[in-house]
Amino acid sequence: MNAPSKTLDRPPALAVRGLTKHFGGVYAVEDCSFEAPAGQVTGLIGPNGAGKSTAIDLISGFKLPDTGTVIFKDRALEGLPPHVISRLGLIRTFQAPREWPGLTVLENVVMARWDAGREGFLRGLVGLGLTQRGTAADELVRAREILDEFGLAKLRNERAGNLSGGQKRLVEFARIRMAQPELVILDEPMGGVNPVLGERMAVAIEAFIASGTSVIVVEHNLPFIERVTQHVIVMAQGTVIAEGPFETLRSNRDVIDAYLGEVVKQ
Ligand code: ADP
Ligand code: MG
Repeated sequence: MNAPSKTLDRPPALAVRGLTKHFGGVYAVEDCSFEAPAGQVTGLIGPNGAGKSTAIDLISGFKLPDTGTVIFKDRALEGLPPHVISRLGLIRTFQAPREWPGLTVLENVVMARWDAGREGFLRGLVGLGLTQRGTAADELVRAREILDEFGLAKLRNERAGNLSGGQKRLVEFARIRMAQPELVILDEPMGGVNPVLGERMAVAIEAFIASGTSVIVVEHNLPFIERVTQHVIVMAQGTVIAEGPFETLRSNRDVIDAYLGEVVKQ
């Protein structure tokens, strides 16, 4: 068991402290605090309406918290706009996949580097010198390799807007692989996706970790959570009610009452 002690030496990939956000009278997120260990997959689970997506919006700059702080790479993120946060190396996905619909699958994956703020690629495109042009060619080679890895090679020249929901999700995963952020937050990646893709997604998440990207994943599919996570945060009514390895949460009365009981009944 070397891995846990190794991760203890590292600062967390993300620390959230006292995050609060209300919409009128609804406290969507209330005094929410947790840490996501670096180099691991952290699950974020809880019933619908628990505040998971709002917490992700607050972390990634899509919404401004009322109070609380988000620490990523030794800096406070609250108040920074989403594109600045993604360029610092924190990328999030949405419950519905997002792509550049008019661009091809290959172009979508190549663009991920540019979206992540690697300006070398853009300079290469406009031809500012041999080194940068070399970089652009390398990026194309890398994007093709990633499409092979994700079983998307045949769809390379298809417009991304024409793909199925599951294929769009895989393109999104390929874009994350290309961008290689320090941390990715996935909001219900299996939602509306053929479960057969689940195994490919689990393998992709392992590849993210292997390439140095820490992961936070929101998902209702508990076998998937059990398979991919080392640590799980349970939210209910805007706050964290329990956390630990998934197997320790099964018997936690609060977790069963707030969430697991409900999932088992479904
Ligand atoms: P989850 O992702 O865990 O299902 P959400 O973060 O989407 O939960 O929602 C948490 C609570 O905040 C819910 O009660 C939801 O109705 C409410 N909420 C979320 N976004 C808004 C909004 N923009 N305006 C008003 N209420 C919202
Ligand atoms: Mg949600």
